[in-house]
Amino acid sequence: MNVAIDGPAGAGKSTIAKKCAKELGLIYVDTGAMYRAVALYLLGSGIDVNDAEKVSETCTGADVDIRYEDGVQNVYLNGENVTGRLREEAVGNTASVTSVVPKVREHLFSLQRGLADRGGVIMDGRDIGTVVMPDAEVKIYLTASSEVRAKRRVLELEAKGEHPDFEEVKKDIEDRDYRDMHREISPLKQADDAVLVDTSDMTIEQVVEKICSLCDKFLKQKK
Ligand code: C5P
Repeated sequence: MNVAIDGPAGAGKSTIAKKCAKELGLIYVDTGAMYRAVALYLLGSGIDVNDAEKVSETCTGADVDIRYEDGVQNVYLNGENVTGRLREEAVGNTASVTSVVPKVREHLFSLQRGLADRGGVIMDGRDIGTVVMPDAEVKIYLTASSEVRAKRRVLELEAKGEHPDFEEVKKDIEDRDYRDMHREISPLKQADDAVLVDTSDMTIEQVVEKICSLCDKFLKQKK
């Protein structure tokens, strides 16, 4: 069974997917981390990341590899483990700009599809149920209001000792949503056969339970 989870930034996809992976015995694949690794490479290359032509020419120099070590996904960029550097705001915002470039998506597609073909994965991103795993047995579209997502992000940053401005965080999230939903190739949208889960008023445990029960239902039907 493969499970696809799509949704906007801050909807809780990675937290939820990690927990569901544990419950269901699946491998968690975080495709956002792959786009972030390419963004990190582009930021380090010194090119203008808003110049699509330059991004297109340069991105193929980013050799992204995923390795599972002690059950955790580690992302290697040209042989270096960069997992710890991927969650910075600048990297996420750049990833949302550079992921609109077709060459960047093409570059990562075969890595993602290869993992999907092995089976038994729960993969999260923006185009998983629509493009990368249109054949996934269970598809979830996870969302929450931008207000709630910004609040969650502020709490996360405060826990790291930072002092973010709520309005700024909210604006970043809304800008990111706009770019992700309006790009020409593989825009973020709910797949026709995906189940919509709005997490605005749900606890993490309730969301995990909901997704696991959808997966159980599928497995029972299969028997
Ligand atoms: O999910 P995360 O915030 O880590 O993703 C970073 C950025 O990578 C997103 O804003 C989105 O633009 C891009 N992305 C994508 N397709 C995916 C996963 C992420 O375009 N499957």
